[in-house]
Amino acid sequence: MPPFDPPDEAEPVCPSENAAAMAQETNDLMDKLVALCKRRGFIFQSSEIYGGIGGFWDYGPLGVELKRNVKNAWWEDTVRKRDDVVGLDCSIIMNPKVWEASGHIVNFNDPLVDCKQCKARFRADKVFGVLAHRGDDVLLQAGVEADNGDQARQVAVSGANSKTRRRIDKAGEGLQWTVFRTDERPQGQAALCPSCGGDLTDARKFNMMFKTFVGAMEDSSSVAYLRPETAQGIFANYKNVLDTSRMRLPFGIAQMGKSFRNEINPRNYTFRSREFEQMEIEFFCHPEQADEWYTTWRDTRYQWYTDHGLTSSKLHLRDHEDKELAHYAKACADVEYDFPFGTSELEGIANRTDFDLTEHQKHSGRDMSYFDDQTKERFIPYVIEPSGGIDRTVLALLCEAYTEDEAPDEKGNPQKRTVMRLHPRMAPIKLAVFPLVKKEGMPEIARGIYEDAQASGMAVFYDEKGAVGRRYRRQDEAGTPFCVTVDGQTLEDQTVTIRDRDSLVQERIAADQVVKYVRDRLG
Ligand code: ATP
Repeated sequence: MPPFDPPDEAEPVCPSENAAAMAQETNDLMDKLVALCKRRGFIFQSSEIYGGIGGFWDYGPLGVELKRNVKNAWWEDTVRKRDDVVGLDCSIIMNPKVWEASGHIVNFNDPLVDCKQCKARFRADKVFGVLAHRGDDVLLQAGVEADNGDQARQVAVSGANSKTRRRIDKAGEGLQWTVFRTDERPQGQAALCPSCGGDLTDARKFNMMFKTFVGAMEDSSSVAYLRPETAQGIFANYKNVLDTSRMRLPFGIAQMGKSFRNEINPRNYTFRSREFEQMEIEFFCHPEQADEWYTTWRDTRYQWYTDHGLTSSKLHLRDHEDKELAHYAKACADVEYDFPFGTSELEGIANRTDFDLTEHQKHSGRDMSYFDDQTKERFIPYVIEPSGGIDRTVLALLCEAYTEDEAPDEKGNPQKRTVMRLHPRMAPIKLAVFPLVKKEGMPEIARGIYEDAQASGMAVFYDEKGAVGRRYRRQDEAGTPFCVTVDGQTLEDQTVTIRDRDSLVQERIAADQVVKYVRDRLG
């Protein structure tokens, strides 16, 4: 959205020109990615035929496979391959008392501001005032939407007109920046609307839980909420799991599934949605071991993202400063990714102390303590919570994977191609099988390889239509790591070419070894 320049300093501002400049500079990749996701069936706008609905997204045939791969990888790595974590799947709607105990009814509020002029509505903690000045000389004054101060400065500068940008570039050492959150604005500072530059109202509270009614009566006694996080279902079931699974401390309960938040301003594609999926672990341990477990989980979770393709310098692990911590938390760190629209959180890992179990004990009247048979000690466990977003992980994987390079066509001439370099474990389709031509028995052999791969449980695609170069390019855009072609030589020696999406190297291997070859390289 275009920031606002003060009328006395700026040349006439055309909001659409500014928006276009910003889109070009910061969102070029995002625009291309969104177009590819729609064109190839990764992500669609929800109920698009009716004009869509803000903050809701649908995953198409490729997207649903990618998302499922993220979920399967997380489940395998955090539940199946560990002795100390078990799974859970609770209902989305729970007794509203859960949300009283968790504090969501009273505290799950975002500060909300409205523009007095254009009536647009924003989350006050995501709108920043940005002021660039040299002494009393104001070079830039803008209200922008951003997740943090650094991002706000970038957005304000890239959205400014060219004259203002030139003045900032030339300002040299005397240039000073004042950046503040709208709901924490220093006295005397104006809060400006990111859309039109008008004045914003003071912040007021807005509860983000979606309300509904259970049963036939629509009155206050039947109000219920769509869960805003999966974590509370774990706390509510902690005793059930403890009593039925033979788990002893330290141990964790993992759950993934839908959560709902009535975000004031859903934005940045799927990043901030109103319906999204989370993957959360509550890891219960002795209070004296909590610091150690916190560090272990923080590092394990960061490593998990690097292991699945977020290997670039765009991934960060950021420890929270003390002043950022919630009152009950002892430590917290975010796994963050440099999205094209700014650096933002993928997952938070927190030491939540004994806060949640103590609150549920108070509100439910049930004993949440743990008795250690060996030490004969009774205590309320501490909890380490790694809490990640599945949709945000998918989006980061897509951003990281998107690449434009050149690949030779059938005649060996270099051609521009778009390739999604997804980690093989995450790629929606693992293998594509092509007959070079639709005759001489090649389709039959190719279908045989395809069926073998399918029978082994692999996501595989068969394509015999069009030039083979175009078939390769379609698979490159889908992120398929391997393509096999059955050609004339196959008829003579039962070998096929297998092409690597990233290196473009083509090897000849025995047709009956294709499935094993791909399996060995999936990671
Ligand atoms: P943010 O500050 O970005 O709103 P949060 O700190 O409120 O996020 P948590 O409550 O810690 O988020 O939720 C855990 C994870 O759930 C986040 O790290 C994120 O990946 C995911 N998540 C939270 N809100 C959304 C949303 N509106 N859309 C998509 N994913 C979300």
